[in-house]
Amino acid sequence: MTASTDAARIAATSRSVAGVLAEAAEARATVVLSGHVNPDADALGSTLALAEGLRRRGARVLPTFPGPLTLPASLGWMPGAEGLVPSTALPSSPDVFVSLDAASPGRLAELAGLLDAAGTSIVVDHHASNPGFGRVRLVDPGAPATVTLVADLLDDLGVALDSQLATCLYAGLAADTGSFRFGNTRPRTHELAARLLATGIDHAAISRRLFDTAPFGWLGLLSVVTGRAALEPEVGAGLVWTWSSTAEAAEHGLPGEQLEALVDVIRSAEEADVACVLKGQDDGSWSVSLRSRGGTDVARVAMALGGGGHTLAAGYSSHLDREGTIATLRDHLSAR
Ligand code: MN
Repeated sequence: MTASTDAARIAATSRSVAGVLAEAAEARATVVLSGHVNPDADALGSTLALAEGLRRRGARVLPTFPGPLTLPASLGWMPGAEGLVPSTALPSSPDVFVSLDAASPGRLAELAGLLDAAGTSIVVDHHASNPGFGRVRLVDPGAPATVTLVADLLDDLGVALDSQLATCLYAGLAADTGSFRFGNTRPRTHELAARLLATGIDHAAISRRLFDTAPFGWLGLLSVVTGRAALEPEVGAGLVWTWSSTAEAAEHGLPGEQLEALVDVIRSAEEADVACVLKGQDDGSWSVSLRSRGGTDVARVAMALGGGGHTLAAGYSSHLDREGTIATLRDHLSAR
């Protein structure tokens, strides 16, 4: 669908992408903007901030994401979320389609067709595993979050940052940098954070909603899942892993997306370079989260297994059973 040899498909600078977007806004064009399936704070914050910026410049914007339009409580509060449009209600060939924080066309699910069906398609992303897709590409694996690329675009579009935009951008920035703890945090990252805080946003409330708020049942699930964690120091540079499932989350009164936070607890085991959580899905497949302390390129492992991500945080899906899934991962980690 997206041959990278096609000369019409280009790697772009923020300024040239902003030029394309400014022209579209000027012409009152219809712009569909989408994050990846099961959007996180970076995907959603990027989508909502760029949509609002383009709306202010005059574009007809349709922010969306693939799948049913339901957001976890940790994200549903974001300003602009109430204006999200279901993917089923989109025009089949909008003037412009912007993909945000999606590492591959597959991450756009039913919206991937818009990459070719739209008048032009723009891919804004920061995943190391991004193969290059869409007609215009603003892909920077050195960016800590897609929201930093959106902040550049808003600057180039001449859209002033206010607290509404800054709230969306800060959510993505805090989430993808692990609250500025991860190695992807740069001096520029803090400079952007300072600009965002200067708009008067309630950053403490944003962080509390994103990271520190869960139903009481979360504590029960955590005890079960951490209690069955296994340490395998002989696998690669050391592996710690555990598993759960959407069904188990439901037993604790929790939605399936609550499983996403488990890996952040599991990865604290110092004896293991790689942390892994197998998350059983409703369809019986396993969604696999990988984190590395720095000695393992988990994006490469995930890509070899059909997924993608960042050097130190990646994931993929497995249709094997639980034992087969972890055995395959052991093989890949040991073969490094
Ligand atoms: Mn991201």
